[in-house]
Amino acid sequence: MLLIIALCLVLAAPLRALEEEPVSELRISYEGSKLLKVTAPSDEKKEALRTLEDTEGVEVWMTIAANSSTMDVLVKPESADKVKEFLDENGLQFDVVIDDLQAAIDAENPSPSPEEMEELEGRKGHRMTWHSYHRLADIHGFLDYLAQTYPQLVSVETIGNSIEGRPLKVVKISGQPGSPAIWLDGGIHAREWISPASVTYIISELVENRDAHGEAVKNIDWYILPVVNPDGYEYSHRSDRLWRKNRRASGAGRCAGTDLNRNFDYKWGGAGASKEPCKEIYAGSGPFSEPETYVLSNFIQSKAGTVKGYVSFHSYGQYILHPWGYARAYPSDHADLSNVGRKIANAMYQAGGASYTVGGAAATLYPASGGSDDWARGTAGIKYTYTIELRDRGFFGFILPAQYIIPTGREALAAVKTLAVAVSEL
Ligand SMILES: [Zn+2]
Repeated sequence: MLLIIALCLVLAAPLRALEEEPVSELRISYEGSKLLKVTAPSDEKKEALRTLEDTEGVEVWMTIAANSSTMDVLVKPESADKVKEFLDENGLQFDVVIDDLQAAIDAENPSPSPEEMEELEGRKGHRMTWHSYHRLADIHGFLDYLAQTYPQLVSVETIGNSIEGRPLKVVKISGQPGSPAIWLDGGIHAREWISPASVTYIISELVENRDAHGEAVKNIDWYILPVVNPDGYEYSHRSDRLWRKNRRASGAGRCAGTDLNRNFDYKWGGAGASKEPCKEIYAGSGPFSEPETYVLSNFIQSKAGTVKGYVSFHSYGQYILHPWGYARAYPSDHADLSNVGRKIANAMYQAGGASYTVGGAAATLYPASGGSDDWARGTAGIKYTYTIELRDRGFFGFILPAQYIIPTGREALAAVKTLAVAVSEL
């Protein structure tokens, strides 16, 4: 009997995976692709390096930030000679940070066996861990488990559906009657797996380890959407590990999808956003053209006046960014945002040991219009609005091994605890 059960489990796993995958969908291999960190010590060299951005077979993971002199670029094997020649000609030094990206992808996420998953679910009531990156079904199963187990404290609401029809599940962790609210989201960009992993870590701690985190977190209504872009997230697991946008069928291959973090209705279509569907920063056909951003914004607007804090978790780079993103400009309460940002950075360092840089989004990183943070501040009027770029600083980049989930999750938790204190003092 046991043998039959074991056999069924072994057979069921690949069958389930097949069911989810459209027949035409292939898994994209990054065999032989390299991640380079290129240094451009002068403005002239930066200018030269930027011309790489539009080169075939090159994908920029992190462009030259305002405060840095390096650029992280992924180079496909067929372009390696050409890129090497270009870098040599321009006297640009570089390090090969990842020699074979596919090998890094294969090593990033050691998944538990079906037996271990089964055992876990039996023991804990859900399949979620913070030792590996999980599929959407496990994340949603965890939220539902919390709502069932802690009905006084936790509720789950599907606020709408993604463009492919997956539910957008917001978990509410209630404070005292009349508490102010904080909104957290993750997974706007599909490939930034550390974001939903860290946000679910926060959820777990705020619910199941509630007494360990001080009084301020208990006096907040938390609204948390751990996976804003569920279609892209699943696609990044199934097919293309480096997928960023949502899955709107606006074209084939790279031309599908809208960058949800350029689709918000605040300074939409300005600097750092593109009108071309094939670009990674395609802003969509209009502001809030995508269901994921539209639904999120409506939900926040429905809580207007009570939401005093907003954090959107992304990766990578270790930045705590506050408005504005559309231009190198600041709101009039810049000093407040900066002060709380520095407190957040200190708390994150204490909690996990990584250093985070604080500053205005455009001034610190680069201009980007139509971002969720600018909308949260500019339209929804949420005072303490931040985008946090989690680990690392470009050694694994998007392919951050699962062993870093817990230290990064601790940092993310420390950030929102600090924010809770700031909001409660308003
Ligand atoms: Zn991002």
